[in-house]
Amino acid sequence: ALTAGIVGLPNVGKSTLFNAITKAGAEMANYPFATIEPNVGMVEVPDKRLARIDELIPAKKLVHTTFEFTDIAGIVKGASKGEGLGNKFLENIRQVDAIVHVVRSFDDENITHVANKVAPLEDIDTINLELILADLDSVNKRYERVKKVARTKDKAAVAEFNVLEKIKPVLEAGKSVRSIEFTPEETKIVKGLFLLTSKPVLYVANISEDDMANPEQSKYYQEVKQFAESEGAQALAISARTEEEIAELDDEERQFFLEDLGVEESGLDRLIRASYKLLGLATFFTAGGKETRAWTFKQGMKAPQVAGVIHSDFERGFIRAETMSFDDLDKYGSIQAVREAGRLRLEGKDYEVQDGDIIEFRFNV
Ligand code: GDP
Repeated sequence: ALTAGIVGLPNVGKSTLFNAITKAGAEMANYPFATIEPNVGMVEVPDKRLARIDELIPAKKLVHTTFEFTDIAGIVKGASKGEGLGNKFLENIRQVDAIVHVVRSFDDENITHVANKVAPLEDIDTINLELILADLDSVNKRYERVKKVARTKDKAAVAEFNVLEKIKPVLEAGKSVRSIEFTPEETKIVKGLFLLTSKPVLYVANISEDDMANPEQSKYYQEVKQFAESEGAQALAISARTEEEIAELDDEERQFFLEDLGVEESGLDRLIRASYKLLGLATFFTAGGKETRAWTFKQGMKAPQVAGVIHSDFERGFIRAETMSFDDLDKYGSIQAVREAGRLRLEGKDYEVQDGDIIEFRFNV
């Protein structure tokens, strides 16, 4: 499964946020996993469409799809020099598919900051610099090797060499690879380099409780947001401490609490959804009968592969996918009405599944 890793300097609120995630996960009604690693937090992906589908095609139970966060503990400074824990930190980041970078954006004299001041941009730099140096190291090694092969006019080597030539000066200037624009062909090559700073990132400004009702007013958040934009990345404002408190409430209490604050959705829910998108994940549904259920697939997957998300037999014996979009069901009100409108589709093995598709798979056993 794809996972997003939570990173950040010490004392910025990572554990607090991770606690909120684990608490929310522990509340999950249909928790399908007996044991998971202590540093992995499983959450449900909030999706209002599920309840609407259940209204129109009633089922005995509703099952949300789930998704994982990994807590990456870590000493950061000097990590790229490959000393002990630092090495492990980089190794852990290498394993995740996206990065959630938590940045301290609250004032509190009682909570020590490692650099003795609250300065979001400097914090971001400290971490990113380690990742950039680690990438520069990989790129330099690769550069020398590929340079030799490229002299033989080997096509693949020349293409890779050109990409490395594009990346190297950017890293040397202290910038992340994700800030570079690549052509689709170049992107494929970049993927193969497994660089840390090319992973998608979401910057999370951990703002104070007081700023929660109006995050845009936080100057720290504004700084983080501007930086994120400069990299083509996204930023989110969250109060980790508040989220930890909210995660302990039951649904009704939580609703009251959020209304009181004047926000529609908890920060955790926003974080989950943003991370899900960041990973390139999307949702399809199965409906009716015993359960109405949301499932996760990777954008771009074709129908048989998506069937395999449910069961490998479905992929092997795939015949077709009877498909309607959530929007059509919502609009026409029943499967029958969708069918009569000519909007129920029979899709074959080349169909690229879309977010919101409601599918019934036909397969040979
Ligand atoms: P980590 O080292 O990044 O995992 O940071 P922790 O989650 O352990 O948080 C460090 C300290 O900051 C703890 O005492 C938290 O209670 C506190 N903290 C976390 N988030 C907030 C916040 O939004 N506001 C305030 N005032 N303190 C917070």
